[in-house]
Amino acid sequence: MYFIDTHTHIFSEEFDSDIREVVQRAGEAGVNRFYLPNIDVESIDRLHALSDRYPDLCYPMMGLHPTSVGADFRKDLAIIESWFEKRKYIAIGEIGLDLYWDKTFLKEQVDAFETQLQWSIERNLPVAIHTREAFPEVFESIHKVGAEKLRGVFHSFSGSREELEEIVRLQNFMIGINGIVTYKNAKFRDYLPLLPIERVLLETDAPYLSPVPHRGKRNEPAYLPVIGGKLAEIYELPLEIVAEETTGNARRLFGN
Ligand SMILES: [Zn+2]
Repeated sequence: MYFIDTHTHIFSEEFDSDIREVVQRAGEAGVNRFYLPNIDVESIDRLHALSDRYPDLCYPMMGLHPTSVGADFRKDLAIIESWFEKRKYIAIGEIGLDLYWDKTFLKEQVDAFETQLQWSIERNLPVAIHTREAFPEVFESIHKVGAEKLRGVFHSFSGSREELEEIVRLQNFMIGINGIVTYKNAKFRDYLPLLPIERVLLETDAPYLSPVPHRGKRNEPAYLPVIGGKLAEIYELPLEIVAEETTGNARRLFGN
């Protein structure tokens, strides 16, 4: 049984002291591939260093995270865009809108998001979308840039039924399910099966959002089968099928 952790930040400093063991534990749990979303200009060196250390396991994405969009975002986007000429990436990510932490740079966030959606079309790469308290705005940007020309994933889904239905209508988009699905108050479990399993991805979002029973501790890719197990319950499928389906979905979307 093999899993792909489609959204994991194991290049961050939280893993500096034991990355070898983290990768080994993941392998023992059947998690043999990691898709790494970039955050900002400062995280690029770390992202590349880990990808170079484990080229068969780690696949980097490149993009500017919405919470890192500030007054200087154009300068940051220029640096980030220049990397596409120098290296291979499996996606543009993570990008999106986050109005939970701060609304100061809403205009700039929308501009950066739509610019990066445009890159996705130009470079024929999928997008990994982060959205927090911003679904209407994110959908507006997707439709403005061209929903039929884009493909990607709404990572870390925990939205409403209406939001899920809107994603169902976006034929080329999947959702990424992480540890939140194991939390007591995760209402979206009830309507999640509205989205067929063919459009679901597994992710940890490590080091954040550890699934129960590891909640509150640092998250790591070895916990991915716990999330898969919850999904198996929700979709009433054997875990083997969930692993096979979600791994196939990831490879199809990211072409790797
Ligand atoms: Zn993330």
